[in-house]
Amino acid sequence: MSSQTNPSARNDVAVLLARVLGRNRAWILAHGEAIVSEEEAATFMSYCERRRTGEPIAYILGDAGFYGRDFLVNEHVLVPRPETEQLVDETIAFIRAPMRVLDLGTGCGAIGCTIAAETDAGVDATDSSGDALDVARENARRHGVLDRVLFHKGDLAEPVKGNRYDVVIANLPYVPTSRLKKRPDPTSFEPREALDGGPDGLAVYRKLMPSLPRLINEDGLVLMEAAPPTIEELAAMLQAALPTFVIAVGNDYSGLPRYVKAIDRRSEGATYRSSGV
Ligand code: GLN
Repeated sequence: MSSQTNPSARNDVAVLLARVLGRNRAWILAHGEAIVSEEEAATFMSYCERRRTGEPIAYILGDAGFYGRDFLVNEHVLVPRPETEQLVDETIAFIRAPMRVLDLGTGCGAIGCTIAAETDAGVDATDSSGDALDVARENARRHGVLDRVLFHKGDLAEPVKGNRYDVVIANLPYVPTSRLKKRPDPTSFEPREALDGGPDGLAVYRKLMPSLPRLINEDGLVLMEAAPPTIEELAAMLQAALPTFVIAVGNDYSGLPRYVKAIDRRSEGATYRSSGV
């Protein structure tokens, strides 16, 4: 298979074949002589054809790894990205005793379900897409946290108006419209409403800001993921919305500024074990 759409195509092919045969990749590499059935061959070829068009491998397999767990994913949800794990790390380091966490725009539920699975927190998760929430609920069931993650359909924090949280975490659509990719880029297969952050990438965060002071407890933590070129402006927006909080920027694994956090002065340094932003 050519690597026309992505340099990782060779690797992806091995992953797809391993899935079809119910083996791991090491077995595939060690068993070049193995005979596959016609049915296996047909399934494999159909997977390769989908991959050739640029479709994300996570959609073909129907799952994606996040924080050591497998999450069901399909075309209704964004494929969870490894950089988002850092926001989860920050949250887990912050959580003491049973806290309330709000996961805005939960998508497949990777953030909310992981926090519920890793801590005692009770999580509210919102999404405007009913199809995404179906996926997220299935993931909560899969990871045994259905009783501690409550899903709400609606725009941003609208469905949980009146509640206050110890942690508000958001990976909202943040790609500037002009930067959205076309076929065969894998992200072009993802739901546009999960990626499109308007002209400057911050339209959705801007809409959320006015509701933030009433959503977050005064000793709480806010975490927001965004595109590196927009981080400084997002930090300024967050500081304006929460003037008593300390604002910091966190880098992703490739060293690019990727998220903003707002933390109460008193929590900072005291019980909070920061992961180093
Ligand atoms: N990280 C994703 C990307 O760059 C965007 C995710 C989002 O908009 N929340 O494709």
